[in-house]
Amino acid sequence: MIAPGAWLGVLGGGQLARMFAMAAHRLGYRVAAVDPDPECPAAGVVDRYICATLQEPEAWQELATLCAAVTIETENVPGAALRFLGARIRVAPDATALEIAQDRGLEKQFLAAHGVPVAPFRVLATAADLGAPDIDSFFFPGLLKACRFGYDGKSQIAVSSAAQLERAFAQLGGPCVLEQRVALAAELSVIVARSADGSSAVHPVPMNHHAAGILDLSVVPAPLSARLQREAVAQALRIATALDYRGVLCVEYFLDTAGRLLVNEIAPRPHNSGHFTIDACRTSQFEQQVRVLAGLPLGDAGLVHAQGAVVMANLLGEVWTAGDPDWTSVLSHPDARLHLYGKRLPRPGRKMGHITCLADSVEVAQRAAVAIRWRLAHSPDPRSPASRLAAPGNAEPVV
Ligand code: AMP
Repeated sequence: MIAPGAWLGVLGGGQLARMFAMAAHRLGYRVAAVDPDPECPAAGVVDRYICATLQEPEAWQELATLCAAVTIETENVPGAALRFLGARIRVAPDATALEIAQDRGLEKQFLAAHGVPVAPFRVLATAADLGAPDIDSFFFPGLLKACRFGYDGKSQIAVSSAAQLERAFAQLGGPCVLEQRVALAAELSVIVARSADGSSAVHPVPMNHHAAGILDLSVVPAPLSARLQREAVAQALRIATALDYRGVLCVEYFLDTAGRLLVNEIAPRPHNSGHFTIDACRTSQFEQQVRVLAGLPLGDAGLVHAQGAVVMANLLGEVWTAGDPDWTSVLSHPDARLHLYGKRLPRPGRKMGHITCLADSVEVAQRAAVAIRWRLAHSPDPRSPASRLAAPGNAEPVV
């Protein structure tokens, strides 16, 4: 066990690192984060901010010297970083799990090889693979997704013909996965924390609503049958066991209109769809991340109010369109909680924060969350300047 007072490191400095640091601080740990952007959400809250890209061995060395253990907040960490650190200090997750999760092709092959149902897919490594005899209309309508660095529906193109597929492949310009489009009835996710000794804890299952490929709402309890939720949890635990996973893992599912559960993807870290756990669960996904990393016992992942409901609504840059929001509506609501990530510049699609609404029923919680968010976007603070919403920059990340 790594005792409170020790240093824990995180590769990446986005909002997930910020919330990890806050959870670590509550348990008395000190935190170091690596990120190239001095204005990243974690920079202002960690005890040591290391300004470097995640590719720089000097930064890995600095973490290895300072910290007792290191985790990640993004898939875009080189496997080599976790191998380097893993040879010196504790890491969670390990490089193997990261490398599977960061490549859609490897991920789909791993899941399929372990008998996990996924949408029909083919890995297209080079343009030559487009001509393979089994790449046919079976996959259309489909989605072509870049194997690496895609998130929130980015780096993916809808394709319905061989000609469109060829154009899309040229546009994405690298190894891709071609995936049949699933007739979606719902989307859900399972967040599991798993320790080195194989013990695990699973949070209540959220049903997730997306808008334009980005998570919009997470709803708990998911209005889905207990049988289906049990199946999703069992599948997630099988995946975590197959990876011999250590850390917090999110498994994202599609439920198709025929009632089948298919895994969309896995994330080797806390997930946006688990943000409700901060306000609604006995132990949040971020505290579980700290506990696993430090070798502490896992916390109870259940709801504080076992019969209660919770809805998380993301606040994207668009909420700032009419000006800076007047936060009174959320701050004055007794059952709403506001989380802002400290990002200065709102941009379309950029995750600026989220709100969580607690209630006795999903209907009441969802109505409150949607109404509060609408007010934030439509009645700006009268003292605020006109819209600060920046146009999406090509080179600038929106996360
Ligand atoms: P992803 O970046 O792969 O998580 O995709 C973002 C969102 O796009 C998902 O949450 C779904 O809403 C949608 N999506 C992705 N792949 C498919 C698919 N094969 N069929 C239907 N919808 C999909």
